[in-house]
Amino acid sequence: CGIVGYVGAQSALDVVIAGLKRLEYRGYDSAGVAVLADGGLVAAQKAGKLVNLEKELVGHPLPAGSTGLGHTRWATHGGPTDVNAHPHLDNAGRVAVVHNGIIENFAALRAELAERGHRLESETDTEVVAHLLAERFGACGDLAEAMRQVCRRLEGAFTLVAVHADAPDVVVGARRNSPLVVGVGEGENFLASDVAAFIAHTRSAIELGQDQVVELRRDGVTVTDFAGAPASVRAYHVDWDA
Ligand code: GLU
Repeated sequence: CGIVGYVGAQSALDVVIAGLKRLEYRGYDSAGVAVLADGGLVAAQKAGKLVNLEKELVGHPLPAGSTGLGHTRWATHGGPTDVNAHPHLDNAGRVAVVHNGIIENFAALRAELAERGHRLESETDTEVVAHLLAERFGACGDLAEAMRQVCRRLEGAFTLVAVHADAPDVVVGARRNSPLVVGVGEGENFLASDVAAFIAHTRSAIELGQDQVVELRRDGVTVTDFAGAPASVRAYHVDWDA
């Protein structure tokens, strides 16, 4: 429903929570965040409104980090519970992914992953992506390439954003039949399902096209198609008042 990603020098948690607030008008079933900190990945997910997650974070603060992502969920597969809330992690807790849309072939992918020894804990269609990304990243060591390989296996509509503890200062996104926009800053970059999420920080935006993968670093944005070829994108200035 709502997606925000951030890499830069600010507190990723603060940027992501503020961004999710700007998307709150859409309504949702749960909210969650993940941040890369101290060589690891920390995450928090809570059913209900964003304020529930914020209360949870007051009770159990996350260590500070400057790479992160967040999500507000409109449940399609699995009830609106803490366990089904995004971000979803792999079993090692190294990768976190958030998703808008529906992955239609998730049941087949789940069965395949279970056969390879993965434990899937939620009822969502999304969780398979975290496990597939962990496998592909383990094999190639490049999160954008891992995302491209995973996207080629997915059917349906999706916006995906992911981070990996072994890829510090990198946020990766993918888009098919679901919106995803990059906010280009100075020494920082943003990803969101709607420009409203980052307009307080930058008005310079790049709209991703169909079947594209984007890699965000502090000082650069790289967009390819799902095969890895450089992709053409539309850069524009957001001139409405938020
Ligand atoms: N299909 C996913 C789920 O039910 C994502 C829903 C969304 O777009 O928020 O968890």
